Amino acid sequence: MSHRIVLATRNAKKLAELDRLLSSAGLDVQILGSDAFKDLPEIDETGQTFAENALIKAREVCQHTSLPAIADDSGLCVDALDGSPGVFSARWAGESANDENNLDLVLEQIVDVPDGQRGAYFACAAALVMPDGREFLVSGQVNGQLLRQRSGTGGFGYDPIFVPDGYSVTTAQMSAQEKDAISHRGQAMRELVPLLVQALGDPSL
Ligand code: IMP
Repeated sequence: MSHRIVLATRNAKKLAELDRLLSSAGLDVQILGSDAFKDLPEIDETGQTFAENALIKAREVCQHTSLPAIADDSGLCVDALDGSPGVFSARWAGESANDENNLDLVLEQIVDVPDGQRGAYFACAAALVMPDGREFLVSGQVNGQLLRQRSGTGGFGYDPIFVPDGYSVTTAQMSAQEKDAISHRGQAMRELVPLLVQALGDPSL
């Protein structure tokens, strides 16, 4: 019988990415998003770090659903902005800002930063919280450079301006599989899969 686990996100693109990453590991698990639970409260991301926020979200969702819960918290850290927007990446241009607004604001804030000093990285922390209280935490990071204008239509968030080190295209120009292979979330999820298998304790997984 396949296990049910919850991915603590309402972001459909992120859910699809996480779903793909877990499924490609061959896990026989039924993956539900937060939207599958009507009475799940909105969770305030009050942590100072990606790890704290991932744990806050996974704990809350596990408590409400009594199912193993995975949450990730991620963001873009820009060298020229001393690591911002960081944990504020999803609401950098305001609480009701969308991906477009957030990306525009970052571009505007680094408009005077010369090529060669436009380094940034995507970071991700992912937490797995089990109903019996066990907690697991992993992380991933991908370094790169920020362009001056958008290129590509894939991915989400800041992907259209992020060129990973060693590449000449943005993560928005990559196929989903190419991005997964190098991304901060891909790294974290690949680290989490064996921990999930171990935590579920089913040798057939
Ligand atoms: P979270 O849902 O609180 O983890 O916020 C993540 C935010 O960071 C997203 O809304 C994006 O703005 C940004 N972000 C995280 N991962 C990525 C990525 O893979 N590509 C582009 N932007 C990302």
